[in-house]
Amino acid sequence: MKTINDFNFKDKKALIRVDFNVPLNSDFQVTDNTRIEAAKSTIIKVLEDEGSCVLMSHLGRPNGVEDKYSLRHIVDEVTKVIGCNVNFVDDCVGAKVADAVNNLQNGEILLLENLRFHPEEKKGDVAFAKELAQWGDIYVNDAFGSAHRAHASTAVIAQFFKDKKCFGNLLAKEIESIDKVLNNPKKPLTAVLGGAKVSSKIGVLENIIEKVDHIIIGGGMTFTFIKALGGSIGDSLVENDKLDLALHILQQAKEKNTTIHLPVDTLIADSFSNDAKTQIVPVNEIPDGWMGLDCGPKTSENFADVIANSNTILWNGPLGVFEMENFATGTINLGNAIAEATKNGAFSLVGGGDSVAAVKQFGFADKVSYVSTGGGAMLEMLEGKTLPGIEAINN
Ligand code: AMP
Repeated sequence: MKTINDFNFKDKKALIRVDFNVPLNSDFQVTDNTRIEAAKSTIIKVLEDEGSCVLMSHLGRPNGVEDKYSLRHIVDEVTKVIGCNVNFVDDCVGAKVADAVNNLQNGEILLLENLRFHPEEKKGDVAFAKELAQWGDIYVNDAFGSAHRAHASTAVIAQFFKDKKCFGNLLAKEIESIDKVLNNPKKPLTAVLGGAKVSSKIGVLENIIEKVDHIIIGGGMTFTFIKALGGSIGDSLVENDKLDLALHILQQAKEKNTTIHLPVDTLIADSFSNDAKTQIVPVNEIPDGWMGLDCGPKTSENFADVIANSNTILWNGPLGVFEMENFATGTINLGNAIAEATKNGAFSLVGGGDSVAAVKQFGFADKVSYVSTGGGAMLEMLEGKTLPGIEAINN
């Protein structure tokens, strides 16, 4: 795996694909700068080598040029996080950019305008990628959040750099973390899969079922399994067309000697609301008119035992409707168990969508080994897919 540490950037322009797709509020201020922070060490490495950085990114899903998606809104935040002046040019190709790049001195940063203002970016247009490729001597991909897309700046562009292409520190760390879990885990290895639906996690389940020792299942997907096993789930979330699939997964796990842990009790509510009436019942005895929105205390205890005995832990998806305070306990209990196991030497990786939000919201981000920055990209890696952005550097 070639990383920026294999290069000396002195007098070189690094063309870095970053993922600055950050959330903005109505005043166009950055409300979460995690992704900018995550790119910092790559940028600093180039500057310390006495090279310069041309940064390119997308922001949101613009339809042509739309000012609300302009990367100019984030210039101040990037300046603050990186700690040095950031120049901005209001396009990513063309004469203006050529001028700005030519004027760029060692130790300086230039941020290009939103790549997706040009539809060629998402189409993976080769000519557009070639235009972009002019702006750097060495191509660095540090955009994990976009690595599952075969776009011009994330994958297609790499062909113009032959051996002058590499991963930035962030992308390298993401690859290493997932490798530690999927390919070189210290056993026992436990995967926690929560979230809403079985259907969105089926690819992950199928890929990991042979590799892991334990699978903890929680969240809304619980009830498809419980119903398939003959339990009463009341009005809980269920995918009726996935009942056979759930049984198939349980059977497969048996054959592979993988233990699946399902909730035994659940916190049910009489409506999908934080103020709903609640009670705790066995997970397979939910009355009609009630729905399971969190796991119960006995389940939390069981899951904590499994986690305490694991040396590697992967967590994807919350165990309940954590966005509502009254249904966040199961997710918080799991976070505490993983934090404790990590303190005792386990390696823990949190990745893929809402579990990252939960981990941040409840203050576990510093207490786990690694929090992935890529939702969709992480899911696809867990599904065992080769990501175009990674393959393009490795080829
Ligand atoms: P995912 O994006 O698949 O990880 O799903 C995350 C979503 O699943 C969150 O918004 C949770 O509120 C939701 N969720 C978790 N547990 C349940 C549940 N028991 N019933 C309904 N939704 C749930």
